[in-house]
This record gives sequence, C-alpha cells and structure tokens, in this order.
Amino acid sequence: MRDYLKHYINGEWVESTGNETMDVINPATEEVAGRISLGTLEDLDRAVQAARNAFPTFSKTSKEERVRLLEAIADEYEKRKDDFIEAITEELGSPLSISEKVHYSMGLNHFRETARVLKDFSFTEERGDTTIQKEAIGVSGLITPWNFPTNQTSTKIAGAFAAGSPVILKPAELTPFAAMILTEVFEAAGVPKGVFNLVNGTGERVGNGISSHPGIDLVSFTGSGAVGQKVSENAAKTIKKVALELGGKSPLVVLEDADIKKAAKIAVSNVVMNTGQVCSAATRVLVPNAIHDQFVEAVKAVLPRFSVGDPRAENFAGPLVAQKQWDRVQGYIEKGMEEGATLVAGGTGKPEGLKTGYYVKPTIFTDVKNDMVIAREEIFGPVMSIITYDTVDEAIDIANDTVYGLAAYIAGRDPEMIKKVAHGIQAGQIRVNETQPDFTAPFGGFKQSGNGREWGDYGIEEYLEAKAVIGMPT
Ligand code: NAD
Repeated sequence: MRDYLKHYINGEWVESTGNETMDVINPATEEVAGRISLGTLEDLDRAVQAARNAFPTFSKTSKEERVRLLEAIADEYEKRKDDFIEAITEELGSPLSISEKVHYSMGLNHFRETARVLKDFSFTEERGDTTIQKEAIGVSGLITPWNFPTNQTSTKIAGAFAAGSPVILKPAELTPFAAMILTEVFEAAGVPKGVFNLVNGTGERVGNGISSHPGIDLVSFTGSGAVGQKVSENAAKTIKKVALELGGKSPLVVLEDADIKKAAKIAVSNVVMNTGQVCSAATRVLVPNAIHDQFVEAVKAVLPRFSVGDPRAENFAGPLVAQKQWDRVQGYIEKGMEEGATLVAGGTGKPEGLKTGYYVKPTIFTDVKNDMVIAREEIFGPVMSIITYDTVDEAIDIANDTVYGLAAYIAGRDPEMIKKVAHGIQAGQIRVNETQPDFTAPFGGFKQSGNGREWGDYGIEEYLEAKAVIGMPT
C-alpha cells in the first residue's frame, strides 16, 4: 500500500493544504494499491510561485548545464528501474515485461535522447544584422493521462528542462505512482528547487487551475479531445500557448503485396499493446478485398500469441485501467455488433477464467464500414475494425476520412506504393512495416489529434519563444 500524500513544491515534499485523498486501484486485483492527496488551488498557487521564482536563474543556465542535468536525471532514473516497473504494473495493470520494455524504457529514452539532441541544438540564428534567439517560454503547466505514466511525463519534462522552463506537473489521478518515483529521481539528480513541482489532484480542480492560471505561460496537455477543448478555452483567457496531444483513430494500410502473416502480426500487436489504451493504435485496418480472407485467417492464427491475463504472469497485455474504461469498451463492442460488423474474435464479457480485474477480450471486427461508430470514435481498448478497399486511392481516402490524424501504419513491399500512401495520409507519424520508435522524430497530430509536437528537437521547440534582435551591435 503506497501512501503518496504529499506534493512536491519548491524542492520539498509538502503537505496538501486540503485534506481530501483519493484511492488508487490496482486494475488487476480491483484492490486499493495506494492513496494520493487531491491538491487545492492554494497548493497550485504555491507551485506556480516556486516555478516563477526559479525561472530567471534556470532559463539562463547554459545549454551544457542542462545537458548535464538531463544526463544526471537519466542516470538516477536507471537506478530506479525495478521501482518504476513495479509501480506501473500496480497502477496500470500492464504486464511486468511491458512495464519494463515499453513504459520504463520510453521514459528513459526521452531523457537520454533529449540530452543528446540538446548538445547540437542551436538557440541562436544570425541573419545579417538580425539575431534570432530562442528563449524559454516561461513557466509550463503539464497535464498527463493515465495510459503511459512515464512516457507522457518524461517527454514533456525533458523538453521543458532542455529549453530552460520550470514546470508544474499534474499527473493522471488514476496512475500517479510513477510520477512520484520520477519526482524522487529529480531530487536525487539535483534538479534546482522550484524547477520541478508536482501537485496531484483532479482534472476538474488542479487541471482547470493550471489551464487558467495567469502565472503559467504554456500548458502542455495530453489526453482526450473533450478535455483538450476545455484546456484551450481556459487558456485563451490569458493567451497561454497551448500544446495538445489528443486522441486518434489511426489506420494501418495493408497493401496488396504485403507479407500477410507479418501484416497480421503488426495489426494484432498494435491493437492489443497496452490493452488497446494507446492514442496512436492502429484501430482501423484497411485491407484490399483481394486478400481479405487470407488476412482474416492470418489474424485469427496470430491472435492467441498476444495473450491477455495476469500482469504478473507471462502475458502480452493486462486488464484495462478501470471499471469505467471496461464499461466503455463493452459498449463499443456491443455497438459494433448492433451496427452489423462481423465478429471475427473476442466479443463482450471477460475472457474465460478472469473474473477479477478489468479484463476484456481482444476483439476483431470485419465488414466494418468507415461510417460506423466503431470506425469513427476512439474506443481505447483492444478492438480492431477491418475495412476493405479496392484501390490504393480509395485506401488513402478512407484513411483520411476521420477527424483525427495522429499516426498511420503501412504494411507492404513496393517502395513507390509505400511512398504514395505515406504522402497521401494526413497524420503526424507514419510507420512503415515493423519499426522501432525513433525518440528524436516528432510525435503529435494533424487535425483533432492535437496541435503540438513532442520528442527530440521538436519537443524542445515547444517550450521556446523566438526573440528577434534587429541591429544588434557586433
Ligand atoms: P482525460 O482527458 O480524461 O485526462 C487527461 C488528464 O487531464 C488527466 O490528468 C485528467 O486529470 C486531466 N483533466 C481532466 N479534466 C480536466 C480539465 N477540465 N482541465 C484540465 N485537465 C483535466 O484523458 P485520459 O482518459 O486520462 O486519457 C485518454 C485520452 O488521452 C485518450 O483520448 C487518448 O487518445 C489520449 N492520449 C493522447 C496521447 C497523444 O500523445 N496524442 C497520448 C496518450 C493519450
């Protein structure tokens, strides 16, 4: 049982000024795994003041100092490997191996890669008599979701620190444990006081407080579109810069010449990863009519390899994060059946033998039309919609027929066809066949998937303002 009842403000663990707490539930056991304090607006004010006090000094540190800071953070982060893995499995229900290989590693990579990219990052550009300086934007408020507890926090914090911006983090209240360990990492790495502040709490109170606070210059939000809109509305009142990383309904375009077995594996692993709670998951799989039946057979054959079950056993995926999420996913599976899609695998209810825990069956639908609800709305569970097409132009049209544009995937062989699809799809990141993540490549969305970019040098740019000095004496 973890009692994380303090916030971290101005380099110290402090009591909350309120006395409300919230239980954090382990989604595999449905038991209470710990508690956090729900912060107040007074707690937030104190954190904002600490960050503002830290800004003049931190924003003027040299690039080399900030590279060293990020490297020190990465070193300390590595020392806490086992603690991160255990905490993420407890709060999110992800299998221990995924907590390690995906969650723990992504956080580490953001600090290491941002440090590396920062070494070559130029904050000054000379254009004749004009000098353009890129300077830290001010104080940044960071609001993160529950599905990637170390990835979302680390990418934002690494970018902000690289730019010289002090931060206030409000992690997701469903999965706050990893952020508490991360805070201990910052303490151990010697992050100067006031540069990192953490206030736990609800979106309604602390989240709204961040987006409307006059002392915060930028709000970086990752989460749902509905909350993203609210954040933007609040931020507009103080003309804050807003960076949004929102949802997706990403396509995987399987080309006719694809290796069908490999394409089926990409499709299944993508949609079952993190129990489908991935903003960039390929939930719409576009398959040529000519190879549809073979593809469906290949999906059915590979599906059992991606087992769902106890996160402490050898499984690929665990439960969904919460009962609310379970109800939501069940609702969409029912909707898919009502709408006339054909169930290939899975369906409603819990997988056999898994009564306790928010487990769902990985569910594959085919005969899906792109105007069905299951093809339009983000389900955030392991539910795949197979949609057929005849020509590549038609596939591109279907891929783009969505309000989202976060990611897209292509499985195929012909380089010209792959290029055509990659150029045709409006999405922030396109991945071709089996690839590893590139932590220096920008991540973010077109259309309603957001309006910012994270990771690597683009992630640093997010926290900078450009200052033009015209006629600077030499
Ligand atoms: P959410 O929008 O409900 O919550 C995200 C965060 O916002 C939480 O910390 C929450 O407390 C806070 N929040 C809630 N109400 C708020 C308010 N009124 N003002 C300010 N903050 C508020 O999202 P979620 O359910 O935690 O996460 C799932 C969503 O996140 C999905 O839509 C998913 O696609 C998206 N997501 C996007 C990315 C990306 O990089 N594009 C990554 C992960 C998740």
